[in-house]
Formats: sequence, C-alpha cells, structure tokens
Amino acid sequence: MLVVQKYGGTSVADLEKITNIARRIVSYRERGDRVVVVVSAMSGETDRLLNLAQSVDKFPDEREVDVLISTGEQVTSALLAIVLKSMLCDAVSIQGHQVRIITDSAYTKARITTVEEEKITAELDRGKVVVVPGFQGVDEKGNITTLGRGGSDTTAVALAAALKADLCEIYTDVAGVFTADPNICEKARCLDTISYDEMLEMASLGAKVLQIRSVELAKKYNVPILVRTSFGEAPGTLVCKEGRNMSMETVVISGVTYNKNEAKITVRRIPDKPGMAAKIFTALSDAHIVVDVIVQNISKKDRTDITFTVGKMDAKKACKIMEETAEKVGAEGVIIDEDIAKVSIVGSGMMSHAGIASKMFSVLAKEGINIEAITTSEIKLSCVIASKYGQLAVQTLHTAFGLDREDVEEEQ
Ligand code: ADP
Ligand code: ASP
Ligand code: MG
Repeated sequence: MLVVQKYGGTSVADLEKITNIARRIVSYRERGDRVVVVVSAMSGETDRLLNLAQSVDKFPDEREVDVLISTGEQVTSALLAIVLKSMLCDAVSIQGHQVRIITDSAYTKARITTVEEEKITAELDRGKVVVVPGFQGVDEKGNITTLGRGGSDTTAVALAAALKADLCEIYTDVAGVFTADPNICEKARCLDTISYDEMLEMASLGAKVLQIRSVELAKKYNVPILVRTSFGEAPGTLVCKEGRNMSMETVVISGVTYNKNEAKITVRRIPDKPGMAAKIFTALSDAHIVVDVIVQNISKKDRTDITFTVGKMDAKKACKIMEETAEKVGAEGVIIDEDIAKVSIVGSGMMSHAGIASKMFSVLAKEGINIEAITTSEIKLSCVIASKYGQLAVQTLHTAFGLDREDVEEEQ
C-alpha cells in the first residue's frame, strides 16, 4: 500500500517526538508499505518566524515572508530524514521546489496548481521513505511560496492525489475529528467517519484539525483521509465520501465549531447607492482577502453601514484597504474589532427541521450572550459574538443539541 502520512507541529515539536514518529514510519516500512511523509514545522516555529518579520515591519514584504516561514518545515524534513537513517531506514528529504509543487504567486496563501510526482516515485522505487516539507511550494518563476496557515494538510492531500496513494493519514494531537473542539468542550465525541461535505463545513467554520483546502482537494480527487493521534494507537476518524455518523437521519446537529481567528470590520455611513458594496468587496478580493460574514444595515438618511469579517491574519491589511476605499467612496470611517468569535452549529439534518435557529438564539440569550451578526446556509448557522463567550457558547450549544458524550451513550 502507498500511504502519505502528515505529522503536525506538536508531533515534531522536539527530537524525542521526531524519534517517536520515525518508529511508526519504520513499522509501516517493515510491513511493506511505500511511505511518503509530510511534516509541519515544530510547533510555535511559524509564529516565531512571523513575529520576527513583523517586529521589523507591520506589513513585511510577502515574498520574503514566504522565504522566511517556509524554513520551519525545511528543518523538520531534514531532521526526520536524519533520524530515519540513524535507525537504518533509508530516507531522503525533497523540498517543495525540488518536488516541484507548483503554486500560483499569491504569497502567504498560494494555491497548488500541479504536483510533479516523478522524483518522489523514483525515490520510492529505490526503497526510500520520502520526506516532504509541508506548507511550501514554488511558483512558475521559481519563487518560494506558502499555502496559508495549516497548509501542510493540503500538501499531504495534494501529494496523495498526485501519487494516487491508497490513504492519506493526518497525525495530530487529538484522537480524530470530534463533534466540537475537544480542547474546549470536554464532552465532545470522536467520530468514526465523517463525509467530505460535513468536514468541509466544519473546517470552514473553525475546526482547524484539517485545513479547508485539504478537504476540498480530498473530495475532488476522492482521497480517503484518516485523522489520528500521533501519541497512541486510537483508530481515528475516516473522512470519506459517505461519512456515516454525522448524517444519520436522527441527528439534526452534528457538530459545534468555534473560530476566534476572524476580525470584524465595519465601514461606516457609506452613501446608499448602487455600486458601493461592489467597490468595497472588489478592493478586498483584489488583495486576495477572503471575506466571511457580511451584514448591511438598513440605511438611515441615505447612508448605510456594512460590517464583515475577515481572517485575523488579513485584518490589518483589510482595514488599511477599507480606509482608502472609504475615503474614495465618501464613507465616514472604519472600525475594527478583533475580540470576536464565530460560533456555528453544523448538520445536514438542519434542512428539514424547524426551530433550530430559534433554539440556538435562545440558548445564547439564556447565557446572556449578545449576537452581533448572523449568517446561515442550508447546513449551518453561525453567530458572531464577543470572544470572551466563545467557549461557553460552544459548551452550552453542544449540550443543548444533545451532542454530549453521556447522552449518546444513553441513547445507544
Ligand atoms: P497540527 O499541528 O497537527 O496540524 P492543529 O492544531 O492544526 O494540529 O489541529 C488540531 C487541533 O484542532 C486540535 O488540537 C483541536 O484543538 C483543534 N480542533 C478544533 N475543532 C476540532 C474538532 N472538531 N475535532 C478535532 N480537533 C479540533
Ligand atoms: N507550519 C505551518 C503553520 O503553522 C503549516 C502547518 O503546520 O500546517 O501554519
Ligand atoms: Mg494543522
């Protein structure tokens, strides 16, 4: 079997942990598997490098940022190959530009366009374990790029798709995909399986256990993903076409997510005439900034406010662009609030059940939590709230919608 294994930052945090994962890799080799390993940087390293750049310049040149932050993964890929060789398991690291993981040129959030698999296949044929640093690629002109935070997941799935691997294993610090982040909701339940569609929704709403683009790719190329802990032998969660747990007809809400990585920006008192929203959101999309929740207030005296959320990483840049745009369109100013959280309930059962929204709002109201913005789709409902209430909101919604571990055990 050909397997791509990805190890996240906590799984490669020091030499002892790298040695532990090397043992697992050797055991796969010993049973005859061909193994490609994708590694993240040691935990905290990408943040450390980003902080260094930002301590010099609040808006550091993004090409240079990518050269800088891609080094974290270069370090762990080489170290893992060295450790594997010391265990007499032949291994070679191949960097993103050597594989030729080709991306577009959107520095810090580049998208993979093609993956050349020849070099990897040649080394596998020589009996080696191939170690590829996650998160990094190269554009057509040879510039180093990175794939956005959490991007090593996407590297792993892209390699699995290109190599037609049998399985893509994502090793992390929790036992699998849960009904809510197990680190903030101790009653969360680990799922056996989950469908690509529900995982897409969970990932896009803050379940950072998988980067959303890795799930998009897995769905497109039908790559089965097994999310597991690197600190034990628990079976993990299989992400595949037909996830079963979450889509059972009896289950209305299948998960609660929480995202505190967004900031809320309000453009104040915009002249209320056609074309204003287009100007605002074109300015953001030109800068490759993804916008999430959008709310437009009812206009007063021919003026209106538009509020939206963007990823925290883009917040300062978005704010600067909005200040320029506000001046151009004659709006009165821009307000930014970084202390927000978006809490969401997800589930395909929502489509056919009445009263889900009212229940969510009542649960939040009972806890005295004010809702600042709301957004819905057929299978999710999100509320923007003050970040200090994030954890409380997740826990109470998880209980209110019957997702707690004890409830499930009682029902079975
Ligand atoms: P890695 O460094 O291995 O890539 P991440 O920190 O990116 O790990 O992702 C794992 C984390 O995702 C977990 O520690 C957990 O706190 C968080 N998480 C959020 N939502 C969920 C969820 N629904 N199921 C599992 N983990 C979740
Ligand atoms: N090291 C990168 C990050 O911290 C990529 C990853 O770990 O997936 O975002
Ligand atoms: Mg991650």
